[in-house]
Amino acid sequence: MLHRLTISDLAAKLARREVSAREIMQSCLDQIARVDGRIHAFISHDAEDALAQADAADRELTRGVAGKPLLGIPIALKDVLAVKNQPLHCGSKILDGFISPYDATVVEKLRAAGAIVFGRLNMDEFAMGSSTENSAFGPTRNPWDIERIPGGSSGGSAAAVAADECIASLGSDTGGSIRQPAALCGVVGLKPTYGRVSRYGLVAFASSLDQIGPLAKTVSDAATLLGAMSGHDPRDSTSVPQPVPDYGAALTGIKGIKIGLPAEYMIGGLDPEAKAAVDTAVKKLAGLGAEIVDISLPHTDYAVATYYIIATAEASANLARFDGVRYGARVEGADLAEMYCGTRGAGFGPEVKRRIILGTYVLSSGYYDAYYLRAQKVRTLIRNDFLQAFETVDAIVTPTAPTAAFRIGEKSADPLQMYLSDIFTISCNLAGICGISIPCGFTSAPRLPIGLQLLGKPFGEESILKIAAAFEQDTAWHGQKPPL
Ligand code: GLN
Repeated sequence: MLHRLTISDLAAKLARREVSAREIMQSCLDQIARVDGRIHAFISHDAEDALAQADAADRELTRGVAGKPLLGIPIALKDVLAVKNQPLHCGSKILDGFISPYDATVVEKLRAAGAIVFGRLNMDEFAMGSSTENSAFGPTRNPWDIERIPGGSSGGSAAAVAADECIASLGSDTGGSIRQPAALCGVVGLKPTYGRVSRYGLVAFASSLDQIGPLAKTVSDAATLLGAMSGHDPRDSTSVPQPVPDYGAALTGIKGIKIGLPAEYMIGGLDPEAKAAVDTAVKKLAGLGAEIVDISLPHTDYAVATYYIIATAEASANLARFDGVRYGARVEGADLAEMYCGTRGAGFGPEVKRRIILGTYVLSSGYYDAYYLRAQKVRTLIRNDFLQAFETVDAIVTPTAPTAAFRIGEKSADPLQMYLSDIFTISCNLAGICGISIPCGFTSAPRLPIGLQLLGKPFGEESILKIAAAFEQDTAWHGQKPPL
């Protein structure tokens, strides 16, 4: 049952030499063999390589290597992060045959902290989606109800943690892709401040919004991972040379901390059970000593539209590189144009094509001012809303998603409905701030997890982790296991 434990539990057991890294890794591999046929969190994984890494960790443990917080801990990766000599599909057919020539910085950092880095976790193609239904490898299923989506785009990352197929995982978050699946699968998911974690080796979707972050079973595990991943990287000029605090040490009480409650987030489309769970959570935070303050984020209404202009514009530029020449699959043609069209036509799925077309349109000369430029201005207004709110509060509390996990197929025919499931998570990326989702309850029938979102100042991860940890320690929502 080692796969069911947390990083902190396992690190303690490893330090006492009660278990070996190989036993932990094997326990995760057995769980994958037992449940992944039903969940499909993994696109692939190399058991032999994972066990070899575990043996290397065991040798270090025997030698008494100290100061590696993740030594011997199996961490699985979203299929958007480069691992040297491994395939990298981004959930797409267009990268068939591509093998990464280098490690992402986060992979180097996790390895330096001792982690066993393994597996390719399923995702919406190029991280575009909220349900993991847009994967060329077929959907991932929610461990709490396999007829339902796990959220997205890091659906594999969330489902794998919820189903105990790995001890923690990494995802990427451009508009909610870590927090929303974490909420829908009942785990912890953290999107760091833009610039906190290097994006080197993360395949770009929308470069001004993308961040890599951890999905974990507890807040303390997320803090450990964030500490290991963060820091300036000369290979990503948008990473910020801000010192990395000891996030674990920040998990103290929340007496006197000020938490803002934005009026604009209590919208009509919010599921009554989700609303009730969030209301109860807010009371709980007040009971723990936080001061709850009503705040306003007046430009919230424009967030979804602004995001879908900026994200698609950036995606249309970023995805131009997949042309059949440099990476992955190619469909031959009579001339270059035919080869490009054939490759991109066959390689990209419908949602990616829709975004490229939309993004190209909003950047085109006749429409640039009306759409892209205007969206950039509104983005500034949205960021200013937050910066103003953070003059009076330390963090902001909201629901993570308007509903619990929906059924596979329920929204896939209606892109606008799908886009609206990101309504609470998108502003955080537009503003470049940090956010975390933690479990805060369940719907009644069927029993599905509900997430609570805490948003923090730029580089305010310590505050949101502290609040999340206090909430987690005083409630029984985390650590509940799906019926698998
Ligand atoms: N669901 C959002 C989208 O489809 C966010 C995706 C993400 O954060 N990568 O764009």
